[in-house]
Amino acid sequence: MKIPVLYYHKIDFPKKNAVYKGLYVTPKQFKRQMFLLKRLGYRTIRPEDVLSFVKGHKLSVRKPLLITFDDGYENNYINAYPVLKKVGFSSMIFISTGFVGKKRVVSDERERVLEDFLNIEEIRLMADDGVFIGSHGINHHFSDKLEEGVLINELTASKAYLENILKSSVDFFSYPFGSYNANVMRAVKKAGYSGAFTTDKGRVSVGDNSYELKRIPVNGYNNIFNFLYKIIFLQ
Ligand SMILES: [Zn+2]
Repeated sequence: MKIPVLYYHKIDFPKKNAVYKGLYVTPKQFKRQMFLLKRLGYRTIRPEDVLSFVKGHKLSVRKPLLITFDDGYENNYINAYPVLKKVGFSSMIFISTGFVGKKRVVSDERERVLEDFLNIEEIRLMADDGVFIGSHGINHHFSDKLEEGVLINELTASKAYLENILKSSVDFFSYPFGSYNANVMRAVKKAGYSGAFTTDKGRVSVGDNSYELKRIPVNGYNNIFNFLYKIIFLQ
């Protein structure tokens, strides 16, 4: 058995001038995907379950699934959260804490379109309702290009910020831009995280490194068939 961990960015209609249109999955596409997975018998698990699975523990669920979102866009709350509630799926949002409550772009100079990010109340409300919250750093930097002190601050201050909002521990990290190396992985572990998700394509297998967990990207160009293909067949 392998665990598919999906990752999304924006659940919204692509903004007209957006450069990276693939980062948008429309609410209609998302709804269709979630209802299909539910109908096929997939059941969402906790991020801790993914960890115990890689360490060799058996899962009680036959078709496990983890649904994640990177960056912390407000459209996750507006367009994804109600659908997930309707099908009874949990999910996990990795938040770049420097963007909370703001309107801006994720640091890529080519993208000019502003997005609204989740505010503290929305994060709290979802977390209280079973949405798992993880850290995606503070400023969405390439972790492997940061000076050691800056990297450590990105990891520890974002964790502390979220823990302070949620009054519970934040144990998972996802690498901004999927950028990491052995040194970054060591720093993530040292900062007190128990696991980290990459953008390396694949499903999670027994024996995988807890700080190098693979995911399956879902973008707006996927039709329902290649969406399903990746979940079922991707190594
Ligand atoms: Zn990101």
